[in-house]
Amino acid sequence: MSRRPFVAGNWKMHRTPSETAPFMERLIDALPEGPDVAVCVPFTSIAAAASSAAGSRLRVYAQTMHELAEGAFTGEISAPMLVDAGADGVLLGHSERRQYFGETDEVLRLKIESAHDAGLEVIFAIGETGDEREGGQTEPVLRRQIEVAYRGLSVERVARTTIAYEPVWAIGTGRTATPEMAQQAHAFIRSLLPESARNGVRIQYGGSMKPENAAELLAQPDIDGGLIGGASLDATAFAAIVGAAPA
Ligand code: PEP
Repeated sequence: MSRRPFVAGNWKMHRTPSETAPFMERLIDALPEGPDVAVCVPFTSIAAAASSAAGSRLRVYAQTMHELAEGAFTGEISAPMLVDAGADGVLLGHSERRQYFGETDEVLRLKIESAHDAGLEVIFAIGETGDEREGGQTEPVLRRQIEVAYRGLSVERVARTTIAYEPVWAIGTGRTATPEMAQQAHAFIRSLLPESARNGVRIQYGGSMKPENAAELLAQPDIDGGLIGGASLDATAFAAIVGAAPA
Protein backbone atom coordinates (compact mmCIF):
# COMPACT_ATOMS: atom_id res chain seq x y z
CA MET A 1 0.00 0.00 0.00
CA SER A 2 1.41 3.40 -0.82
CA ARG A 3 1.37 5.84 2.05
CA ARG A 4 1.34 9.58 1.44
CA PRO A 5 4.41 11.11 3.09
CA PHE A 6 3.74 13.34 6.10
CA VAL A 7 6.29 15.87 7.37
CA ALA A 8 5.65 17.75 10.62
CA GLY A 9 7.64 20.51 12.28
CA ASN A 10 7.86 20.71 16.06
CA TRP A 11 8.51 24.31 17.10
CA LYS A 12 8.80 23.36 20.81
CA MET A 13 8.80 26.50 23.00
CA HIS A 14 9.56 28.89 20.14
CA ARG A 15 7.52 31.54 18.28
CA THR A 16 5.14 33.96 19.95
CA PRO A 17 1.75 34.60 18.33
CA SER A 18 3.07 37.78 16.69
CA GLU A 19 6.11 35.94 15.30
CA THR A 20 3.86 33.15 14.00
CA ALA A 21 1.99 34.97 11.20
CA PRO A 22 5.06 36.21 9.26
CA PHE A 23 6.79 32.85 9.69
CA MET A 24 3.73 30.95 8.41
CA GLU A 25 3.54 33.27 5.41
CA ARG A 26 7.18 32.53 4.50
CA LEU A 27 6.64 28.80 5.04
CA ILE A 28 3.47 28.55 2.97
CA ASP A 29 5.22 30.44 0.12
CA ALA A 30 8.22 28.10 0.28
CA LEU A 31 6.34 24.77 0.57
CA PRO A 32 6.69 22.49 -2.44
CA GLU A 33 3.77 20.36 -3.68
CA GLY A 34 3.50 16.82 -2.39
CA PRO A 35 3.51 15.51 1.16
CA ASP A 36 1.06 16.28 3.92
CA VAL A 37 2.59 18.95 6.16
CA ALA A 38 1.91 20.10 9.72
CA VAL A 39 3.43 22.43 12.28
CA CYS A 40 3.21 21.60 16.00
CA VAL A 41 3.07 24.99 17.70
CA PRO A 42 2.85 26.34 21.28
CA PHE A 43 -0.71 26.63 22.67
CA THR A 44 -0.63 30.41 22.48
CA SER A 45 0.27 30.35 18.76
CA ILE A 46 -2.44 27.91 17.64
CA ALA A 47 -5.00 30.56 16.72
CA ALA A 48 -2.46 32.66 14.79
CA ALA A 49 -1.08 29.59 12.99
CA ALA A 50 -4.58 28.34 12.13
CA SER A 51 -5.58 31.69 10.76
CA SER A 52 -2.44 31.85 8.56
CA ALA A 53 -2.89 28.25 7.43
CA ALA A 54 -6.55 28.68 6.42
CA GLY A 55 -6.95 27.81 2.74
CA SER A 56 -3.53 26.11 2.56
CA ARG A 57 -2.76 22.41 3.02
CA LEU A 58 -0.70 23.11 6.14
CA ARG A 59 -2.16 21.47 9.28
CA VAL A 60 -1.77 22.98 12.73
CA TYR A 61 -1.01 20.70 15.70
CA ALA A 62 -0.56 21.29 19.43
CA GLN A 63 2.41 19.70 21.21
CA THR A 64 0.55 18.06 24.11
CA MET A 65 -2.82 18.17 25.92
CA HIS A 66 -4.55 16.87 29.05
CA GLU A 67 -6.32 13.52 28.83
CA LEU A 68 -9.64 14.79 30.19
CA ALA A 69 -12.04 17.09 28.38
CA GLU A 70 -12.46 19.46 31.35
CA GLY A 71 -11.97 19.68 35.09
CA ALA A 72 -10.04 21.23 37.96
CA PHE A 73 -6.55 20.97 36.42
CA THR A 74 -5.03 24.42 36.72
CA GLY A 75 -2.90 25.37 33.75
CA GLU A 76 -3.92 22.44 31.57
CA ILE A 77 -5.46 22.46 28.08
CA SER A 78 -7.92 19.83 26.80
CA ALA A 79 -8.64 18.37 23.38
CA PRO A 80 -11.94 20.26 22.90
CA MET A 81 -10.07 23.50 23.77
CA LEU A 82 -7.48 22.74 21.08
CA VAL A 83 -10.21 22.12 18.52
CA ASP A 84 -11.93 25.38 19.42
CA ALA A 85 -8.62 27.25 19.14
CA GLY A 86 -8.23 25.96 15.57
CA ALA A 87 -5.93 22.93 15.95
CA ASP A 88 -6.25 20.03 13.51
CA GLY A 89 -4.21 17.63 15.59
CA VAL A 90 -1.85 17.05 18.48
CA LEU A 91 1.60 15.58 18.98
CA LEU A 92 1.56 13.15 21.93
CA GLY A 93 4.38 11.37 23.73
CA HIS A 94 7.31 13.52 22.62
CA SER A 95 10.39 12.43 24.58
CA GLU A 96 10.69 15.87 26.18
CA ARG A 97 7.15 15.46 27.55
CA ARG A 98 8.07 12.00 28.83
CA GLN A 99 11.41 13.12 30.31
CA TYR A 100 10.56 16.52 31.83
CA PHE A 101 6.83 16.22 32.50
CA GLY A 102 6.48 12.58 33.48
CA GLU A 103 4.17 11.44 30.68
CA THR A 104 3.79 7.68 30.70
CA ASP A 105 2.43 5.31 28.08
CA GLU A 106 -0.56 4.62 30.37
CA VAL A 107 -1.52 8.30 30.35
CA LEU A 108 -0.70 8.60 26.65
CA ARG A 109 -3.27 5.89 25.88
CA LEU A 110 -5.94 8.08 27.52
CA LYS A 111 -4.66 11.14 25.65
CA ILE A 112 -4.83 9.38 22.27
CA GLU A 113 -8.46 8.40 22.91
CA SER A 114 -9.41 11.83 24.17
CA ALA A 115 -7.80 13.51 21.14
CA HIS A 116 -9.63 11.19 18.74
CA ASP A 117 -12.93 11.74 20.56
CA ALA A 118 -12.57 15.48 20.01
CA GLY A 119 -11.78 14.93 16.31
CA LEU A 120 -8.05 15.68 16.49
CA GLU A 121 -5.45 13.92 14.38
CA VAL A 122 -2.62 12.38 16.43
CA ILE A 123 1.12 11.93 15.99
CA PHE A 124 2.29 9.51 18.71
CA ALA A 125 6.04 9.67 19.41
CA ILE A 126 8.11 6.76 20.69
CA GLY A 127 11.81 5.95 20.82
CA GLU A 128 14.66 4.56 22.87
CA THR A 129 17.33 6.45 24.82
CA GLY A 130 21.04 6.11 24.03
CA ASP A 131 21.58 3.82 27.03
CA GLU A 132 18.69 1.61 25.95
CA ARG A 133 20.12 1.29 22.43
CA GLU A 134 23.59 0.53 23.73
CA GLY A 135 22.11 -2.04 26.09
CA GLY A 136 20.40 -3.85 23.21
CA GLN A 137 16.98 -2.74 24.50
CA THR A 138 15.71 -0.85 21.44
CA GLU A 139 13.12 -3.40 20.34
CA PRO A 140 11.81 -4.25 23.85
CA VAL A 141 11.41 -0.52 24.57
CA LEU A 142 9.55 0.16 21.33
CA ARG A 143 7.37 -2.90 21.92
CA ARG A 144 6.50 -1.78 25.45
CA GLN A 145 5.68 1.77 24.35
CA ILE A 146 3.33 0.55 21.62
CA GLU A 147 1.78 -2.26 23.66
CA VAL A 148 0.99 -0.09 26.67
CA ALA A 149 -0.19 3.01 24.79
CA TYR A 150 -2.24 0.99 22.28
CA ARG A 151 -3.76 -1.45 24.81
CA GLY A 152 -7.48 -1.62 24.13
CA LEU A 153 -7.26 0.89 21.27
CA SER A 154 -9.55 -0.08 18.38
CA VAL A 155 -7.96 -1.00 15.05
CA GLU A 156 -9.72 2.01 13.56
CA ARG A 157 -7.95 4.33 16.04
CA VAL A 158 -4.62 2.62 15.43
CA ALA A 159 -5.11 3.09 11.69
CA ARG A 160 -5.58 6.83 11.98
CA THR A 161 -2.71 7.50 14.36
CA THR A 162 0.61 8.55 12.85
CA ILE A 163 3.63 7.21 14.74
CA ALA A 164 6.88 9.16 15.04
CA TYR A 165 9.96 7.03 15.71
CA GLU A 166 12.36 9.36 17.47
CA PRO A 167 15.50 7.82 18.94
CA VAL A 168 15.98 10.07 21.96
CA TRP A 169 19.77 10.15 21.45
CA ALA A 170 19.23 11.74 18.02
CA ILE A 171 16.88 14.55 19.11
CA GLY A 172 18.54 17.94 19.00
CA THR A 173 22.00 16.37 19.12
CA GLY A 174 23.02 16.49 15.46
CA ARG A 175 23.42 12.68 15.65
CA THR A 176 21.08 10.99 13.19
CA ALA A 177 20.18 7.32 12.96
CA THR A 178 21.62 5.86 9.77
CA PRO A 179 18.95 5.15 7.15
CA GLU A 180 19.46 1.40 7.73
CA MET A 181 19.12 1.74 11.51
CA ALA A 182 15.98 3.85 11.15
CA GLN A 183 14.47 1.51 8.55
CA GLN A 184 15.03 -1.46 10.84
CA ALA A 185 13.25 0.26 13.74
CA HIS A 186 10.38 1.40 11.50
CA ALA A 187 9.85 -2.09 10.09
CA PHE A 188 9.88 -3.46 13.64
CA ILE A 189 7.31 -0.89 14.83
CA ARG A 190 5.10 -1.70 11.85
CA SER A 191 5.26 -5.41 12.72
CA LEU A 192 3.79 -4.59 16.16
CA LEU A 193 0.60 -3.12 14.69
CA PRO A 194 -2.57 -5.12 14.01
CA GLU A 195 -2.31 -6.74 10.61
CA SER A 196 -5.31 -5.00 9.08
CA ALA A 197 -3.97 -1.52 9.97
CA ARG A 198 -0.25 -2.16 9.59
CA ASN A 199 0.32 -1.20 5.98
CA GLY A 200 -1.66 2.02 6.12
CA VAL A 201 -0.09 3.59 9.23
CA ARG A 202 2.41 6.36 8.55
CA ILE A 203 5.61 6.21 10.59
CA GLN A 204 7.72 9.38 10.65
CA TYR A 205 11.39 9.49 11.55
CA GLY A 206 12.57 12.22 13.92
CA GLY A 207 16.03 13.07 15.20
CA SER A 208 18.26 15.72 13.66
CA MET A 209 16.65 15.43 10.22
CA LYS A 210 17.99 18.19 7.97
CA PRO A 211 17.91 19.04 4.26
CA GLU A 212 21.27 17.24 3.88
CA ASN A 213 20.16 13.87 5.25
CA ALA A 214 16.40 13.90 4.59
CA ALA A 215 16.29 12.34 1.12
CA GLU A 216 18.22 9.23 2.16
CA LEU A 217 16.08 8.68 5.25
CA LEU A 218 12.81 9.38 3.45
CA ALA A 219 13.71 6.93 0.66
CA GLN A 220 13.53 3.98 3.09
CA PRO A 221 10.47 1.79 2.47
CA ASP A 222 9.01 2.08 5.99
CA ILE A 223 9.86 5.76 6.59
CA ASP A 224 6.79 7.78 5.63
CA GLY A 225 7.89 11.28 6.56
CA GLY A 226 9.63 13.17 9.30
CA LEU A 227 9.11 14.96 12.59
CA ILE A 228 11.49 17.89 12.52
CA GLY A 229 12.58 19.97 15.52
CA GLY A 230 15.42 22.45 15.04
CA ALA A 231 15.28 22.62 11.24
CA SER A 232 11.53 23.41 11.31
CA LEU A 233 12.32 26.86 12.74
CA ASP A 234 13.88 27.80 9.41
CA ALA A 235 11.19 28.03 6.69
CA THR A 236 13.66 27.37 3.86
CA ALA A 237 15.23 24.32 5.55
CA PHE A 238 11.84 22.88 6.52
CA ALA A 239 10.50 23.36 2.99
CA ALA A 240 13.62 21.64 1.61
CA ILE A 241 12.96 18.62 3.85
CA VAL A 242 9.34 18.51 2.66
CA GLY A 243 10.66 18.62 -0.91
CA ALA A 244 13.00 15.68 -0.21
CA ALA A 245 10.08 13.30 0.41
CA PRO A 246 9.41 10.90 -2.46
CA ALA A 247 6.49 12.00 -4.68
C1 PEP B 1 12.05 16.67 17.80
O1 PEP B 1 12.11 17.44 18.75
O2 PEP B 1 11.02 16.01 17.61
C2 PEP B 1 13.21 16.56 16.92
C3 PEP B 1 13.25 15.57 16.06
O3 PEP B 1 14.18 17.51 17.08
P1 PEP B 1 15.47 17.72 16.15
O4 PEP B 1 15.00 17.64 14.71
O5 PEP B 1 15.97 19.06 16.49
O6 PEP B 1 16.42 16.62 16.47
